[in-house]
Amino acid sequence: MFDNIIGNNRNKQILKDIIENNNISHSYIFSGSSGIGKFLFAKEFAKAILCMNDTIRPCNSCKSCISFENGNNMDIIVIDEQEETIKTDTIKELTKNILEKPIQSSKKVYIINNSENMTKEAQNSLLKTLEEPPEYAIIILVTSNENLLLNTIKSRCIKVFFENLSDSEIKQYFNRNSIDFFDSMLYACGGSIKNAIELNEKRDIYEKIENIFSNIDYMNEIQVLGIKETILNNKDDIYFILDYINTLFYYKIIENINNTKKYKKCIEIIEETKIRLKRNSNYDMTIDWTLLAIYACLERND
Ligand SMILES: [Zn+2]
Repeated sequence: MFDNIIGNNRNKQILKDIIENNNISHSYIFSGSSGIGKFLFAKEFAKAILCMNDTIRPCNSCKSCISFENGNNMDIIVIDEQEETIKTDTIKELTKNILEKPIQSSKKVYIINNSENMTKEAQNSLLKTLEEPPEYAIIILVTSNENLLLNTIKSRCIKVFFENLSDSEIKQYFNRNSIDFFDSMLYACGGSIKNAIELNEKRDIYEKIENIFSNIDYMNEIQVLGIKETILNNKDDIYFILDYINTLFYYKIIENINNTKKYKKCIEIIEETKIRLKRNSNYDMTIDWTLLAIYACLERND
């Protein structure tokens, strides 16, 4: 169980124990940063709950496990919506569906991914089910922002907290998937596999940024401004790019412990850039300002 998921070993043990001791509660909150595997954990946990084998669960060979893998197990219902909110109608459907008994297993599992997207009204309509769930039903709320869940909801669930992955776990992920990585890419993930995947998909961009900002002390103005086009073309990722640039400056601070002032100033410039962009300043002009301000700041000797 959980062999294919990297990280959060303590939770693996906790959930395994729950299955082994058949000590399954009616409602759980799987909470932690986005992109660290909570949803995968929830699905694997559900599979084990529904498994019809008495000894090893999930057995991967019973009727339930096989239909689970094929995506046609009727005793698992997943709400994983791409929209920004999970509406009351969706939850009402769930609360209606939950009254129907399981089809093949002895339990029925509901997973609501990004459950913080439930509107307040939707949460309230889930509340009654959480208070008095049918004895066969298990509800798992997966969330990366627990604060948006009502206290009345939270108080009825067992919370399982997921930690960000460590650098060595992210490294393990890269190695397992044969992904070449550079160190700053590793640190820019911030412990999230989702970020790691995104960084890898757009590695050309990050490699270019890495080349400029790692060597920025030796670059002339034209070279520094050369990165502008890459940044302008990737407007959708701008906050991630800015954080990445900051990671590179943090690196420089660690490497040049006696001469950190100018790099700290660069980080301030990046933070100021974020504020300007959030204020809807002109995008092109803001990026121009950022690059020139960083250039000016590095040229000046401390
Ligand atoms: Zn099974």
